[in-house]
Amino acid sequence: MSNLINGKLAPIYQEIIKRNPGEMEFHQAVQEVLETLGPVLEKYPQFAHHKIIQRICEPERQIIFRVPWTDDRNHVHINRGFRVEFNSALGPYKGGLRFHPSVYLGIIKFLGFEQIFKNALTGLPIGGGKGGSDFDPKGKSDSEIMRFCQSFMTELYRHIGEHTDVPAGDIGVGGREIGYMFGQYKRITNRYEAGVITGKGLDWGGSLVRKEATGYGNVFFVREMLKTKNQEIEGKTCIVSGSGNVSIYTIEKIHELGGKVVACSDSNGYIYDKEGIDLAVVKQLKEVERRRIKDYLEFRKEASYFENGNIWEVPCQIAFPSATQNELDGAAAALLVKNGCIAIGEGANMPTTPEGVKVFQEAGILYAPGKAANAGGVATSTLEMMQNASRDSWSFEFTENKLSTIMTNIHDLCYEKSAEFGSPGNYVLGANVAGFIRVANAMLAMGV
Ligand code: GLU
Repeated sequence: MSNLINGKLAPIYQEIIKRNPGEMEFHQAVQEVLETLGPVLEKYPQFAHHKIIQRICEPERQIIFRVPWTDDRNHVHINRGFRVEFNSALGPYKGGLRFHPSVYLGIIKFLGFEQIFKNALTGLPIGGGKGGSDFDPKGKSDSEIMRFCQSFMTELYRHIGEHTDVPAGDIGVGGREIGYMFGQYKRITNRYEAGVITGKGLDWGGSLVRKEATGYGNVFFVREMLKTKNQEIEGKTCIVSGSGNVSIYTIEKIHELGGKVVACSDSNGYIYDKEGIDLAVVKQLKEVERRRIKDYLEFRKEASYFENGNIWEVPCQIAFPSATQNELDGAAAALLVKNGCIAIGEGANMPTTPEGVKVFQEAGILYAPGKAANAGGVATSTLEMMQNASRDSWSFEFTENKLSTIMTNIHDLCYEKSAEFGSPGNYVLGANVAGFIRVANAMLAMGV
C-alpha cells in the first residue's frame, strides 16, 4: 500500500495503527485522509496544537453487543452487533447499519470514520457514526429477519435517540429492516420518535426521495464534475457495479439524463446489455422478488451474464462503483482508463483501493471519492429528520431539488478547497480538507 504520510503526521499515523491492531479497512481510511492533511496543519497550527487529528481518529464511544435470535426451526443463533459513535462535534451521530457476514469492528470503524467527513461536507448538522452486525441476511425468511432486527434493537435502543444517535440503512438493511427496528424501538420506549431512525416507509415518517437519494446524488455530483470539462451525462456509456438500492437509482438517474448503463452486477457476476439495462426488470428481480442478477436473462435474452466476471472490463466512459469496499483495484482502474473512461463516481464507501485511486489520479481523469459523491443518502436522511421534527412532509420535486442543490454545493466546496490547497480538481484532497476543517473548527470551539 502506498504511504505518502510524512512529517509531523507520520508518528501520529503509526500510533493510530498501533492502537487499532488488525483493522485493515480502518487503517486504509485513516491513511487516505491523513495523506492529504499536511498542508492543512501548516495553515492552521492550532489544529495540531489541540491534537485534533488524534482526537478525530479515536471514536467517542464503541458499543459491541450480543444479538441472540431463533431461526424458523427454533435453533438459536448468536451474532455480534456494533455501533461506533465516532464524532458528535457537528450534531447527533448519524450513519447506517450494515448487516453482512464480513462485518467486524474494523469495517464499522472505517465506515464511521468516513461518515464524519461525508456528513460534514453536506453542511447539515450531523455527526458521524456507523453500526451493524455480522448477520447474513441472504436466504433468511421474512420472520427470521424480523426476529433478528427485534433482537438487535432490544440492545441498540438504549444508545440511540433523535438528539443522540440516528441510524439508517446500509448494505443488507433496507426499508423492511428499518420497519422492524423502528417497530421494536417504539414498543420498548413507548415513544413515536420518528427522528430516531431514517429510511422509514412513506406512510410512517419516511421522506420521498430517500430511497433514490444515494444513487441520484452520485449522478448529480458526476454531472457537476463533467461540467468543469464542458461535458455532460447525455450520450455517455456507463457501468454501475452492484444491483442494490444505490445501483438501481444510479441507473435510473443516468437514463433520465440521457446516458446509457450497459452493465451491473451482484456478488455472483455481472450482466451486459448492449441496448441499455432494462431497469424495470432489475427492480422486479431485486426489490420485489429478491433474486440474483443472472435471472435478468430470463427477461432479456439478448443480454449476457458473466459468472464471477470482472465488470470493470466492460468499456465505458463513466464508471459508478456502487457495490462495496475495495471492489476496484489497480489493475481494474488501469483497464478502465485504457478503455477510455473519463470519470468515476463512487456510490459505495471506499470501493477503490489506494492503488486504484493512484491510477485514476495519475491518468488525470475525474475521480469523485465516495465520501463526497455518495453523501446524498445521508443528506436526504437529514431532510427526513427535518420533516419529522416539523411534522411535515415535502413533495418529491421539492426534496429532489434540495438534494440536487446539496450535491452541487458539495462539489463546489470540494473543488474550491482542492484549488486553495494547490491541486484543482483533486476531489480526494478537496473532500478531506473541507470535511476536516469543518469538524476541526467545531471541536476547537467546544474545547477538550
Ligand atoms: N449508509 C449510508 C451512507 O453510507 C446512509 C447513512 C444515513 O442515511 O444515515 O452514507
